[in-house]
Amino acid sequence: MSLKYMEEFRDARLAKELVKRIKAVSTKPLRLMEVCGTHTMAIFRHGIRSVLPDGITLLSGPGCPVCVTAQKDIDAYVAFSGMKDVIVTTFGDLMKVPGSGSTLAKEKAVGADVRIVYSIFDAINIAKKNPTKEVVFCAVGFETTIPTIAASLLTAQAENVSNFSIYAANKLTPPALAALMEADGVEIDGFILPGHVSVITGTDAYRGTFEKYDIPSVITGFEPVDVLKGILILAEQNEAGRPDLINAYPRAVSDKGNEKAKAIMNQVFEISAATWRGIGEIPESGMSLRESYRQFDAAQKFGIDMPDVPEPKGCACGEILMGLKTPEACKLYKKVCTPMSPVGPCMVSSEGACAAYYKYA
Ligand code: SF4
Repeated sequence: MSLKYMEEFRDARLAKELVKRIKAVSTKPLRLMEVCGTHTMAIFRHGIRSVLPDGITLLSGPGCPVCVTAQKDIDAYVAFSGMKDVIVTTFGDLMKVPGSGSTLAKEKAVGADVRIVYSIFDAINIAKKNPTKEVVFCAVGFETTIPTIAASLLTAQAENVSNFSIYAANKLTPPALAALMEADGVEIDGFILPGHVSVITGTDAYRGTFEKYDIPSVITGFEPVDVLKGILILAEQNEAGRPDLINAYPRAVSDKGNEKAKAIMNQVFEISAATWRGIGEIPESGMSLRESYRQFDAAQKFGIDMPDVPEPKGCACGEILMGLKTPEACKLYKKVCTPMSPVGPCMVSSEGACAAYYKYA
């Protein structure tokens, strides 16, 4: 995409015009949820909250992959790091997320072999270079990440890399939206749907949730003009009482999404239940390895089945992910919990709501 083309979506004149239109159309309070952590960061970075009418509240949703990873899954990653001859490979964001008793960073500091990788393919290369060790990859992420994980496992299988496995805590976005709509106390007047995820899923993936709950929904990108346009669409739908599912990011998202990526994902994984931090188990919101790829299942290989554990005492991450609270409403925010000393994952992840508030609010 050319820079000139991108400039359109950063155009200050266009952005100001959109703000004017949002203010002109808004007559009632609205609670809009940006589902994706990248949107949360973009909204803060571009100062969008500060230019909206007072009646529009933006809530961060369950779209930060590290934040929604259940405490028991973090405990599993820590447990792998304590095993003899096991190398744990992970994206950097997971290192400081507190489990019940420790973090990967703390375990590394006392000698565990935990390595940060930028791609799952790096983890497979580590396995190839260390044939006498077992390499476990901490697999988190949504539809954007799962196809790459699936492709890497096909490579590992073709190359007979038998000392490599993943602990999958991957999640699917549309079922989480439906779960939010069913949850007690949750008040959402519209969803700003995730741009990156939608590139893979396509607009059609949200149609079931939209039709069932009649909730205004817009897929949009991450530039200021994209986000403001999305907010304007949701405000207009609410004011007119005509909910719709709109793709306002057609330069990247189609109705069907990336069919090849979805096919690879479905070849290796099958839909299963998953446990989300704060929300609990959501049916059909996760992906488990299919029978023919179970040799890559670290949980099965090492007999790991961690018990459910509550979130850290006082941490409101779960309520924040459901739009029930903002970080400032957490008693530990900035007092006990900071990026240097995080209590929950929402303060650790670069896409976490608490980290975003801490940095920008
Ligand atoms: Fe949890 Fe810290 Fe956020 Fe509070 S500020 S919800 S303790 S991550």
